[in-house]
Amino acid sequence: MVFALTPEQLALQARAVAAGEEFRDQARGWDESDDAPYRAIFDRIGELGLFALTMPIEHGGQGLGAMEYFLAAEAIFRASQSWLVGEPLFCTSGPGPSMVLLGQDAVQEKYLPDIVAGRRGCNIALTEPLHGSDLTHLETTAVRDGDRFILNGSKNYVTGAVVNHLHAVFVRFDDLPGAKGIGAVIVEDGFDGVTVARGPSFIGDRGIPHGDLSFHDAVVPVENLLIDRGQFGRLMRAFNMERLHNCAFWLGAMEAAYDEAAKRVQERQAFGKPLLTFQAVYHDLAWMWTQIEAHRLLCWRAAMTAHEGRFPDFQMVTTAKLFGATVGPQITLKSLELHGGYGVTADYPIQRIHRDAITNVVAGGAPAVLKNAVAAGLFPDHRFPQT
Ligand SMILES: Cc1cc2nc3c(=O)[nH]c(=O)nc-3n(C[C@H](O)[C@H](O)[C@H](O)COP(=O)(O)OP(=O)(O)OC[C@H]3O[C@@H](n4cnc5c(N)ncnc54)[C@H](O)[C@@H]3O)c2cc1C
Repeated sequence: MVFALTPEQLALQARAVAAGEEFRDQARGWDESDDAPYRAIFDRIGELGLFALTMPIEHGGQGLGAMEYFLAAEAIFRASQSWLVGEPLFCTSGPGPSMVLLGQDAVQEKYLPDIVAGRRGCNIALTEPLHGSDLTHLETTAVRDGDRFILNGSKNYVTGAVVNHLHAVFVRFDDLPGAKGIGAVIVEDGFDGVTVARGPSFIGDRGIPHGDLSFHDAVVPVENLLIDRGQFGRLMRAFNMERLHNCAFWLGAMEAAYDEAAKRVQERQAFGKPLLTFQAVYHDLAWMWTQIEAHRLLCWRAAMTAHEGRFPDFQMVTTAKLFGATVGPQITLKSLELHGGYGVTADYPIQRIHRDAITNVVAGGAPAVLKNAVAAGLFPDHRFPQT
């Protein structure tokens, strides 16, 4: 077992750190205004060579693996201290593009050139106003009508819905119940019957709206089918890139919180000496770093065991995400505590890092639901029906 990164991986990581640092000073303004120059950020990340990391070379991608994706995303999150700067990676090789990769040749040829070049970002739309954790109960329908599907229903909390132009939408085909009726199609925001709206304002991840998609007899060409009914496992295989992205966010956010705490406790004095020299304080930092290293190892394992190098294993990535979403907010809160009263002022970034952390606790699957999945893997001879 080799834990050392290759020279190429180290170079990619350094490039992603530099990219993130370019944006760090702007993150505060995006947070305050809940607005950001998304297209300019997207284009700059492309100029820095961070688009389409896991997309195959024959489709214009970089042909790298889940590990490289993870390293680059984590580095961007840590260096930029912003959720938003990871979006160009997500939209050019995350779960949406991975679903396109699992589609037929025609849909790949139609959309991958734009996606890998960053001309049109691809997000994912699963969640509905009445169905989040109970994804298998989703109600958005796709009914075949000649050479098109007619979609009806709505999605919410779709990160980047109003700024990207392609949406990998989870639908129920022909009213077939349960997981076996669920598949996905790719929808352009300009299709007839599709409405895109800005969603509610969040306390974290600000600057990029989490929007709503509505389908009223929306017309989607049949060649836009990504994954047909009866292939739920295949659909989730692509979705596991979402969880890897969440894992990278957690590691980057925890590291950023650690960085800020380490800086603050060396600068700030109490009782005539630096805070760092109190045992309770340096024990806190040692505890934070130990959790960070534990999460890193779970994430590396999830990335290194990815199927075909690019589709993370469900159990591995779910376990890693569960750890990150459980421990991450504790780390950011501890950092905030170590800042004293200054930590909750807008003058220090830790309050924003902490708000981003708690905003992401349920994104990509609530911890309780992840525990259901981990338990099902641990006890394969038992069933844990949620209905
Ligand atoms: C920042 C952010 C970004 C997001 N981005 C996207 C996106 O891009 N695309 C998209 O489609 N969605 C997105 N989502 C939606 C996200 O996937 C859902 O919020 C999440 O799956 C939880 O669904 P819910 O909010 O409906 O919570 P609910 O399903 O209502 O669950 C609430 C709580 O109930 C409990 N619970 C529910 N079911 C069970 C169970 N079976 N066992 C035990 N406990 C249970 C858990 O404690 C859970 O946290 C995003 C969400 C956030 C916060």
